[in-house]
Amino acid sequence: MKHRQEPDPSGRCLGTNRQGARCQQRAIPGGTVCRYHGGASPNARRAAAERLAKARARTAVGKLGITECEDPIAELQKIAGETVGIKDYLRSQVELLTSIRYRAETEQTRAELTCYLASLRDCTAVLTSLARLNLDERSVRIKEAQASMIRTAVDRALREAGLEGEPLERGRQAVGRHLKVIKSTA
Ligand SMILES: [Zn+2]
Repeated sequence: MKHRQEPDPSGRCLGTNRQGARCQQRAIPGGTVCRYHGGASPNARRAAAERLAKARARTAVGKLGITECEDPIAELQKIAGETVGIKDYLRSQVELLTSIRYRAETEQTRAELTCYLASLRDCTAVLTSLARLNLDERSVRIKEAQASMIRTAVDRALREAGLEGEPLERGRQAVGRHLKVIKSTA
């Protein structure tokens, strides 16, 4: 069965009969095929449920008029908090289940463990992005601080050399010009 297919916009089943003619049935809601063409299988039902959930989320977001993310770091911090919360909850579930049924490899224990491991990976990904963003922002702040230090030092040096008013302004501009030349040849 091809799970990567997208549903027919009209909601018709994408399956075909032995002669290759298109099936006339409606696909299951959110799905690509009717239940005679595999729509009742767990995989098809999971994929259909996910598509419906995504569609609901898109509709909800559309209604709110959300278009762009203004503060990615703040958003990532929220996501990080939520992701870590989910991870901690799943961890407690895994601990609970393993303590009740020690070494009993039940379906539920395995499912909880799988979710927990996936959630650990989610946490790592979101926290890594956050750390990287913070680092980038910090390095921009350091560069700005260094630039402001250089400006202050140059200004003080020019004043110490006795420059004021018009000559001071010319001195500042000359420093700026030389810095640009050095930067372009560096
Ligand atoms: Zn069908």
